[in-house]
This record gives sequence, C-alpha cells and structure tokens, in this order.
Amino acid sequence: MTKNILVLAGDGIGPEVCAQAVRVLKKLTGSAFTYSEALIGGAAYDAVGTPFPADTLAKAKEADAILLGAVGGPKWEKLDYSVRPERALLGIRKELGLFANLRPAIVFEALVEASSLKPELVAGLDLMIVRELTGGIYFGEPRGVTTLPNGDRKGINTEVYTTPEIRRIAKVAFELAAKRGGKVCSVDKANVLEATELWREEVIHISKDYPKIELSHMYVDNAAMQLVRTPKQFDVMVTTNMFGDILSDIASMLTGSLGMLPSASLGAKQENGKQHALYEPVHGSAPDIAGKGIANPIATILSAAMMLRYSFDMKKEADALEAAIKKVLGQGIRTGDIMQDGMKKIGTTEMGDAILAAL
Ligand code: NAD
Repeated sequence: MTKNILVLAGDGIGPEVCAQAVRVLKKLTGSAFTYSEALIGGAAYDAVGTPFPADTLAKAKEADAILLGAVGGPKWEKLDYSVRPERALLGIRKELGLFANLRPAIVFEALVEASSLKPELVAGLDLMIVRELTGGIYFGEPRGVTTLPNGDRKGINTEVYTTPEIRRIAKVAFELAAKRGGKVCSVDKANVLEATELWREEVIHISKDYPKIELSHMYVDNAAMQLVRTPKQFDVMVTTNMFGDILSDIASMLTGSLGMLPSASLGAKQENGKQHALYEPVHGSAPDIAGKGIANPIATILSAAMMLRYSFDMKKEADALEAAIKKVLGQGIRTGDIMQDGMKKIGTTEMGDAILAAL
C-alpha cells in the first residue's frame, strides 16, 4: 500500500515552509507517497475550537509519517492554557508516544561564518542530540504550587525516570551512533540527582549490546561548556528531557541559523513494524515574517530529508536532497535570515525552486 504522509502545516510561516517541503518530496519520490492534511494549532482552534482536534489525532495515528510546520502566534496568546496552540504539540507527542527527539546540528560549509563561534571550531560540525521527550521533570509528579501554613508558597517539580524509559532512549542513541560516527556521550547530573544516577547505570547496561560504540558520560554543566568549547568532539549526545531542551538550543546556535535546523520525534517500533514519527523544523511560526513569502524553508526541507532517512529508509534520496541544499547554498543563494554580503537574496518559493533545480 502507498505510504501516507500527513502534513500539519499549522500557523504563521508553517504553511509556507511546508508547501516547499512537499514540492521537493514530490519531485524526489514521484508517486511513492500519498499526502493528506489536517488542522493543528491556532488554525485548528479558529476552525473547530480546539488546537488538537480528534480528527487530526485519528489521521496522525494512521499516517506513516507526519510533517509539521509550526504552531502559535500572538493571536492566540491570551487564550486559556488548555487551548493554546502549543498544547497541540504536547498532545501529539503524548498520544503518539513520541519519546525520542532527534536534533542534528550540522554546519554547512557555506554558512560557517554565520555561527557565533570561530569558523575553525564549527567547520564540518555534525552532531546529533537525542533528547528524551515524554518523561522527566516536565511530566513528573508531584508537581504544582501550594501555599504553606505560614503563607509562603512552595513550587515543586519532580524528575522521574524508569528503567524502560531510559533503556529505550539509550537504544535510539546507540542505533543512531552505529549509522554515524560510532560515539555516544550520555549527559546527566549523576553526582547530584539520583534519577540521573539511574540514567547513567541504565545507559551503561544498554551499551553492552553495542560493543562497537564508544560510550562516554558527561555532567550537564560540563557538556554545556564543551559544546561551545570543542563541539566537534561529539557525535551523538543522549540526555534527559530538560537537559536536552537546553543543550539542543545551545547546539542550534552553533549552526548560526534557526531557519536551517530540522528535527525528528520518534515513537517505539510497534509489533506490526510501524513507528510513529513526526518531522518538524526547530523554529516556531515566526509571526513577524508570516505571509511575506520570505521565510527560509530549508529547516522544513531538511526535516523531510530526515523523514526519508528514518521513516522510509530512503538514504539515497535523503542524501540527494541534502546535497541539493548544499549546492544551492554554495551558489550564494540565500533567504533573508542567512543573508551575507555579495549573496543573492530570494524568498521562500524561490528557495524551493532553487532546491528543485539542484536535485
Ligand atoms: P520563532 O522561531 O517563531 O522566531 C524567532 C525568530 O526567528 C523570528 O525573528 C523569526 O522571524 C525568525 N525565524 C524563525 N524561523 C525562520 C525561518 N524559517 N526563516 C526566517 N526566519 C525565521 O520563535 P518565537 O518568535 O519565539 O515564537 C513565535 C511563535 O512560535 C510563538 O507562538 C511560539 O510559541 C511558537 N513556537 C512554536 C514552535 C513549534 O511549533 N514547534 C516552536 C517554537 C515557538
């Protein structure tokens, strides 16, 4: 049966960048996929009063892979927390069990000057952060703010990890490392937090199944420092939800542009071989430039390349797509966010055109 890709374009620049990714996918893969669409985020709230409609969830469960643009914007900021566009992201991750967030930080040769670090520190950088996405302190109980008898208030959040949660994310990291540079660095705070002491023990346990992968451990404070000191020492970093949230943002700045960063969120492989997977750019809905036709579609197109690689095992096509993007950047073609002196500035659709032409 033809595989189905569900496109959840969302808000702001989401529809603009998704449209380019779909054009590129169609050119690259012909009739290999069918495409469907559904509402999410503010667009869904406006249409049906909820950011994550039941119909969207049903389609997401059916789909072989999901491409998501972005959600949110000033129009919906005053809404009750329960129906904010961003709730849809938490909802879809939870409902599909998307526990592994993959965020590559790749520095393209042509954009090496855009990094906030010295070119020699980042030239050729290619690291992958694997963040646990459905556990840890963002979900742990007890949580909340209470008032003590003396009138002081107390805020609590709880870091919780169980062995299955740690083992499955560790496996994702080791499997990825086997296809990349063969190294995993597990990041924790095992000297202070018992939950991450367990994290370290369980990662070591899983590493025994991957004798060819070199495993190291790093405390999160050191990892943050090493990421800006010598980022090229890393291949795959695996870490908890909160540490991953922070470290992946640091790593993204090494590359210099938010408009260039893809991500994937994967669920567990089911017995029938199916694996829920959602691919999306790291950036948000960029309300300041939405509707102007100037957004950079490359992060979303690179997310589509990750989709081809991880959901459909289409390595050749994914490589070709990444090569086409490199070629276009090498030709000096830029959207406004990555513009440099002497380069040619173009808009969203023209960037899609250029990548199609380079394929
Ligand atoms: P943002 O990523 O939307 O924008 C930050 C800055 O980067 C803006 O100046 C924007 O113009 C620029 N930018 C982002 N993507 C770009 C692209 N592809 N091309 C060119 N420039 C780009 O972050 P924000 O402004 O903090 O958030 C805006 C809205 O997006 C908020 O409602 C926020 O909640 C939401 N958001 C959604 C997601 C998501 O859907 N996954 C992620 C982050 C933020």
